[in-house]
Amino acid sequence: MFQKILIANRGEIALRVLRACKELGIQTVVVHSTADADAMHVRLADESVCIGPPPSRDSYLNIHQIVAACEITGADAVHPGYGFLSENAKFADILAAHNITFIGPTGDHIRVMGDKIEAKRTAKRLGIPVVPGSDGAVTEEKEAKRVAAEIGYPVIIKASAGGGGRGMKVALTEADLEVALQTARTEAGAAFGDDAVYIEKYLQKPRHIEVQVFGDGFGRGVHFGERDCSLQRRHQKVWEEANSPALNAEERSRIGGICAKAIADLGYSGAGTIEFLYENGEFYFIEMNTRLQVEHPVTEAITGIDLVHEQIRVASGGGLSVKQEDIKFNGHAIECRINAEDPRTFTPSPGTISHFHTPGGLGIRVDSGVYSGYKIPPYYDSLIGKLIVHGRNRVECMMRLRRALDEFVVDGIKTTLPLFRDLVGNADIANGDYDIHWLEKYLAKGE
Ligand code: ADP
Repeated sequence: MFQKILIANRGEIALRVLRACKELGIQTVVVHSTADADAMHVRLADESVCIGPPPSRDSYLNIHQIVAACEITGADAVHPGYGFLSENAKFADILAAHNITFIGPTGDHIRVMGDKIEAKRTAKRLGIPVVPGSDGAVTEEKEAKRVAAEIGYPVIIKASAGGGGRGMKVALTEADLEVALQTARTEAGAAFGDDAVYIEKYLQKPRHIEVQVFGDGFGRGVHFGERDCSLQRRHQKVWEEANSPALNAEERSRIGGICAKAIADLGYSGAGTIEFLYENGEFYFIEMNTRLQVEHPVTEAITGIDLVHEQIRVASGGGLSVKQEDIKFNGHAIECRINAEDPRTFTPSPGTISHFHTPGGLGIRVDSGVYSGYKIPPYYDSLIGKLIVHGRNRVECMMRLRRALDEFVVDGIKTTLPLFRDLVGNADIANGDYDIHWLEKYLAKGE
């Protein structure tokens, strides 16, 4: 087991990882920018190292500074959290070259899954169902037309290097295709420095369902069920659930089994998420994330397993603490991402939180790094906390969520809490009847 882990992140996830390390009796080092000197994870860590000024590229993305912080403090492993360097293959390689363990998969696995064309090709080879589309990159309009005619309109053009929901263009008919192809390529080139794009069938009313997987480091793979993250705004997840209201146990075990086998065949090590669009009973792979996800607590709630403990165990060579047959799904969990944003316009609302009171009681978990008097720096994303609620079934979970949202107080800044108070009373949400476009339509109606 590791002696000392350096946490290369900030906010709620840095605290989340720190808690897991403390439980396992592992010393903690956190790195932080000058803007985060007062952050909770900095206060609670055994050691902290200031690695630079506020902009992420000078601090949380500064590989040299982070490696130096490992050397100075004698950390033997790094947990990257999510975002920042968590899917940076070069970072994983550099740590390996310094004999520091990256708590995550190998640089090569990160690279394969980070290139969407390569990821899709790999998924297909491993027997994972994919969205029908071009075999690889498409550059010529003629080729694009041929593929689109074959799979049928509408189609979506996506950047191979894309991420964060950027670099995608929909063509409803052949008349839109040329412009869509050109704009997608130009945007991809400008945003990602790589103008490779590919074509897929555009699914019109899918749900976003993702499977949590783990490779144990010894060639075995398991799955921890799925999460439904269909409630999105601008391709950003807002509300996540486990299990999906749309799947039954048989479908869960079928898709979970396919994913677990693929992970084993790949020789993957650590946590990963295989993301699908789900429509008319069929799953279509869109991408794999080679890290811990923001929404992992809903999986923890229904399985009772600490996924960060498992990540640390696997990375240290100790394997998983559970086998597939030990992983049971109990009840239902929902996570609300609470952002420091206006609940309708979503403009960021940084500032000082004058009062912060979190709900409690059975089945309630709040993961947050903020406190009363905390000043939210304007440099980073606006997530200030996550409310995770567990109940014996979805109905109980929703009742408890409504109560917890009523108890939650964040004064001094705007937050997205009022949006969740509206959603929890909505009939479609109560019925679990929504697809990936539901939330944007709801917001556009201004109800
Ligand atoms: P990113 O890495 O940028 O998040 P993804 O491939 O995960 O890109 O897609 C993000 C979102 O874009 C999906 O959750 C879905 O809402 C939409 N999307 C992607 N591919 C398709 C498709 N083939 N049909 C319909 N919507 C899609």
